[in-house]
Amino acid sequence: MQIAATPEQIRAMGARARMQGKSIGLTPTMGFLHEGHLSLVRRARDENDVCAVSIFVNPIQFGPNEDLEGYPRDMERDMALLKQEGVDFLYTPTVEAMYGPGFSVTVSENRLSLGMCGASRPGHFDGVCTVVMKLFNAVRPDRAYFGQKDFQQLQVIRKMTQDMDMQVEVVGCPIVREPDGLAMSSRNTYLSQDERQRALALSRSLFEASDLFGRGERRARAILDGAFDFLNSAQGVEPEYVDLRDAETLETVAENIAKRSVLAVAARVGPARLIDNILLDPHNTEASGGAAR
Ligand code: AMP
Repeated sequence: MQIAATPEQIRAMGARARMQGKSIGLTPTMGFLHEGHLSLVRRARDENDVCAVSIFVNPIQFGPNEDLEGYPRDMERDMALLKQEGVDFLYTPTVEAMYGPGFSVTVSENRLSLGMCGASRPGHFDGVCTVVMKLFNAVRPDRAYFGQKDFQQLQVIRKMTQDMDMQVEVVGCPIVREPDGLAMSSRNTYLSQDERQRALALSRSLFEASDLFGRGERRARAILDGAFDFLNSAQGVEPEYVDLRDAETLETVAENIAKRSVLAVAARVGPARLIDNILLDPHNTEASGGAAR
């Protein structure tokens, strides 16, 4: 595994690979890797000649009162995991290498990023778009791998690449869950045993709603209420939002679910802000609830 710490280094590594006619697949991460991340890495490795991973805790996507300082980090463990997976390039820039003195350009998406997490985390998606644009420009991947766990992020990045005529294929990958249904997340490490148990309310609220959908319910209100009531009645869980959106445009589904939609939840459990979602597809009920579990 070759390691790069600056944009210049990773650019040179990428250029050499491209000269040899090799395709590059990039998985951007903030590290503290788990099976969710590794599922993206494996897919990138299988679909490309060169498998590249970035680890960078991006300060500009954290709000002033968020968990930047305490965000879990373990570079040695991450490096060992990535070596095991046969990763070719690891890009771990420092904050200084990414945002030098006088850095003054940011990238904003102004439609898909407004609601859901964008509403409660002002500036978050500007930070995400900016860092992903920089990573893409440095690595120049053919494909980039993102998890559906951060569904809004995935769609915002897709939109950025379309609107900015970027030549990278954005690949969305399914959510990886713990055996009991909790979506894997680096932030799960913030949870005590008790909170970890309470956090199951997020996935369970989605599964409840998905079961309702599977039984033929198509009214947005009924699906939303079902999920919200479940989440809201859970002890020690503070819902932030429960939202039903068109899966492509992220527009609010106001009445009936007629197209593939995403039911997304965010909630605070103890010190952690957790998110989860599930796809509801009226044309493919198999792929909605069941397959996602
Ligand atoms: P993060 O390190 O949290 O920024 O995540 C890096 C990438 O891994 C993002 O594209 C996430 O959507 C993805 N990811 C995080 N958790 C999961 C999961 N449980 N299943 C699938 N992908 C995930």
